[in-house]
Amino acid sequence: MFRIRRIYDYVLPINQEAISRVQDILRAQFSTLSEKDIAKLPEQLRNPLKFRFRSILYVADDQRGRVKGFALLLHEPELRFAYLEYISAAAKMTGRGIGGALYERLREEAFELDAVGLFFECLPDDPALCNDPETRRQNRARLRFYEKYGARPIAGTAYEAPVEPGGDSPPYLVFDDLGQGRPLPRETATAIVRAILERKYAHLCPEPYIDMVVDSFRDDPVRLREFRYLRPEAVAPVRRQIPVDRRIPLVVNDRHDIHHVKERGYVEAPVRIDSILREIEPTGLFETVPIRHFSEKHIRAVHEDQFVDYLKAVCALCQSEEAIYPYVFPIRNHARRPRERAVRAGYYSIDTFTPLTANVFLAAKRAVDCTLTATRHMLAGHRLAYALVRPPGHHAESRVFGGFCYFNAAAVAAHYLTAFGRVAVLDIDYHHGNGTQEIFYQRADVLTVSIHGHPRFAYPYFNGFRDEKGAGAGAGFNLNLPGPEELDGAGYRQLLQKALRRLRRFRPDFLVLSLGLDTAMGDPTGSWSLLAEDFTENGRLIGRLRLPTLVVQEGGYDTRVLGSNARHFFTGLWTGAFGSD
Ligand SMILES: [Zn+2]
Repeated sequence: MFRIRRIYDYVLPINQEAISRVQDILRAQFSTLSEKDIAKLPEQLRNPLKFRFRSILYVADDQRGRVKGFALLLHEPELRFAYLEYISAAAKMTGRGIGGALYERLREEAFELDAVGLFFECLPDDPALCNDPETRRQNRARLRFYEKYGARPIAGTAYEAPVEPGGDSPPYLVFDDLGQGRPLPRETATAIVRAILERKYAHLCPEPYIDMVVDSFRDDPVRLREFRYLRPEAVAPVRRQIPVDRRIPLVVNDRHDIHHVKERGYVEAPVRIDSILREIEPTGLFETVPIRHFSEKHIRAVHEDQFVDYLKAVCALCQSEEAIYPYVFPIRNHARRPRERAVRAGYYSIDTFTPLTANVFLAAKRAVDCTLTATRHMLAGHRLAYALVRPPGHHAESRVFGGFCYFNAAAVAAHYLTAFGRVAVLDIDYHHGNGTQEIFYQRADVLTVSIHGHPRFAYPYFNGFRDEKGAGAGAGFNLNLPGPEELDGAGYRQLLQKALRRLRRFRPDFLVLSLGLDTAMGDPTGSWSLLAEDFTENGRLIGRLRLPTLVVQEGGYDTRVLGSNARHFFTGLWTGAFGSD
């Protein structure tokens, strides 16, 4: 078994490992390559401008990360073409469908990049160009394979003229129109051929040779060789569905509905999850994955032990329908913890409307497990992952709960990710993410940014002001962007652009996104008026950060539009993350 996935960066350990395995394959399978060419691969992925092509690396690996094959695609956005530089299975891995799966994935990639087609070189099957019968046999098998996709050598040009007279086995230039059925105009082809020869083979091809080859393109449109091995009808149609490696792993809290406060007006209700699921599942963007169990120590890494112990113990003591509402608060004597458990609730909370029940601990712990599961999927190479959970978490501070929140799942994930790189948290819930702010307030390794209704009129009232910028080592690493009471999509975007500028400056390796959809028009807990198309655009802008992004569900309470807004947001996020612009 293997999966195909794109390697986006050189940051994740799993990706660094994959790149060195790819280098091993290059060494073993391409004996003419110099060590210098092999060594430049990470730089090629990191710094596209230097090489005048954007390099896109795909690997086929198994669940343990063992690389079984790879392909490297070069993309030229101005001339709009893709060039397949390498495609290879590891030694002893040929004939297992790895090459075919990689090639199909690259075709989809090239198609999504809006390329006129995919070009690559292939050694000749013509006895006049290739002397050795065994080599010719291998070349025939390759050209036959590509014919399945309609890809054939460009005919009637001097591309395969040897640079040195009498040179053996000069390659054909093969063209795959990606099933688009569009002829390739001569002018487009000559610009592309010149780019390929000048940028890739300048060290081998002198200028007069390049001119000669380019001038030899006379047919308009360019002519491909006749099918030699297959009938034209046998050409495979292009698949048009979202490739597996770009689906968003979705982790849904399956125990969320054990937490159901039936009090009138308690809008944080189980129906929220169903209304989101119903809308996002048919998009095909998501792949539901099972929840893994994680140790409590991850929660205790951001919440105080005493607080976690209290929540656990008090929930265990609650009767099934009992709900403890905090009602007295330690304003004067914080050092003395009240003994009585209901009174003590106020010691650990910030408001009177978030109750403790028999199931709060279990549901909140499960939401953290879901979030860490999604985090693990992101660390395994997925660009986007979504923890669709409730209860939400961003109001939970290191030692208090409130605002429908108990454990701060986004903060747990952000802290977890600091072991792997720099983390930014962007909180786009209508309400200030006071919990996340407080947890990371003195830390410089996690940047926290929140866009929210001004605390002058919006919960949590005591936090979220512009002048809260972090303290100690964390000074300058908290940004609050409070907005006015009335705000539409355009106004919101101005705040979002500020947030994105700060995020870019921080250069994070990961983004944790606290996704609240209570900024929507008509939300019972908010005052802003974002519409479906605003969520699409906000998603797109965030996706354009091109960061591995973990999305954690926070608020959003108007269940008539909640699901649709989530769908719009994720469609935008996906387009921003994977689109070609
Ligand atoms: Zn909210």
